[in-house]
Amino acid sequence: MIRLVSLDLWETLIKDEGEGERGRDELRADFIIKTLGLQSSYKDQIMAFFDELVEAFKHPSIENEWSVLPETQIDHLLQRIGVNAKKEDFKKILSYYTECILDYPPVFAEKEVPEVLENLKKKYKVALISNTGRTPGRILLKLLENMRIAKYFDFFAFSDELLLRKPDPAIFGIACSKMDTLPEESVHIGDSYNMDYLGAKAARVNPILYIPYNERPKAEVYIKSLVEIEDKIKEAYEN
Ligand SMILES: [Mg+2]
Repeated sequence: MIRLVSLDLWETLIKDEGEGERGRDELRADFIIKTLGLQSSYKDQIMAFFDELVEAFKHPSIENEWSVLPETQIDHLLQRIGVNAKKEDFKKILSYYTECILDYPPVFAEKEVPEVLENLKKKYKVALISNTGRTPGRILLKLLENMRIAKYFDFFAFSDELLLRKPDPAIFGIACSKMDTLPEESVHIGDSYNMDYLGAKAARVNPILYIPYNERPKAEVYIKSLVEIEDKIKEAYEN
């Protein structure tokens, strides 16, 4: 019997529209340049750093552990461009860098997200398992409060707080043990085959791949819309 449903955040529950993270990175770069009094020619280097950061997010490894925390991301960036920052400037940059999303928020991946979560909450414990990037868990929580969906979750597993990233099976294990469920009694839904599907599977959690676009499914158990979650759990894992 399934007792816990965990969900990925980015590209599963929320997504960016238009410029999205690229637009926020432009703002972050402008803020850093202004705060440190740098020449505008630094912007290309800063934007190139963000490209490198995205690659690190896509391929979590020991070599890029610096990308787990926003503080160490900024450290790495300043080193890369060969600039020092005073403590107070670093603090200002960190606040802007991490909180920028609240002023330029993403949208629901599907408009039914609140309704889907409300229904799941009636039957299951619900957890969020998210690899965070530039925005740490504590700010994502504020974002989810602003979007009025934080209340549907019993537990938040944010990589910057646990210092574990998907697809590490340990992050799924923590969610299960915090929720007092066995992996076999849990289902995880997410859009990444490597991070979500294979990560959950390695933790013996039942995976469901979310493929909202017309991709060829890489996995056997998949949904095309979040409204299919409950039926898919029954069909694939509750017989
Ligand atoms: Mg995702």
